[in-house]
Amino acid sequence: MTEAPVAERGALVLFSGGQDSTTCLAWALERYRRVETIGFDYGQRHAVELACREPVRRGLRELSPVWDDRLGDDHVVDAGVIASIGRTALTSDAAIEMDERGLPTTFVPGRNLLFLVLAGAVAVRRKLTILVGGMCETDFSGYPDCRDDSVKAMQVALNLGMDQRFALETPLMRLDKSATWRLAETLGGARLVDLVRTGTHTCYLGEHRSLHPWGYGCGNCPACVLRARGYDAYQATRVAR
Ligand code: ZN
Repeated sequence: MTEAPVAERGALVLFSGGQDSTTCLAWALERYRRVETIGFDYGQRHAVELACREPVRRGLRELSPVWDDRLGDDHVVDAGVIASIGRTALTSDAAIEMDERGLPTTFVPGRNLLFLVLAGAVAVRRKLTILVGGMCETDFSGYPDCRDDSVKAMQVALNLGMDQRFALETPLMRLDKSATWRLAETLGGARLVDLVRTGTHTCYLGEHRSLHPWGYGCGNCPACVLRARGYDAYQATRVAR
């Protein structure tokens, strides 16, 4: 599977157990000799997603002996402060619902910035100098902390503030969801696409009972709609090839 030259520097992948971060993890396993993962626990909405992490890591190990050899420790950091800010910021009669960007009204601005700071702190301890995240400015223009400029600014801030030489890698930054499915196929063939499809979770509502062609989810929330649309577009290009 390996095509790109393998870097000796170790990588820490922000890994939520969703489609994007799973694809990023496979991408990192192709490139770096040592890869560790970090996840953030901040409330029950994401409990299903978090529960996907270990089975997905196991699935990636089974796909390739090289990946099995490179995949190292997993770190789960308590980021409950995010949920507490989200709740505190709501007035007592405000409902928790999706806003026009597909974010719950409890969403805390700058969440991904905080994740990068926490990941940087763990990476220093683990002597890892590459941080890999699934930030993408193509599908979610409403997430200002996922924009390329924000991530580049964080790279400067982390390197100054932690006296490091981190490189922040965002392999999905310019990809749409269809291209993300395609990237999974390029990295690990149909078996990786299948692992992403059935092993990862993206649904905002945490629905994990119904298996659709594109995976598990409610099928109606913005995350499910985006994932389904991307999968359909990816399938259409496969037929055309
Ligand atoms: Zn959903």
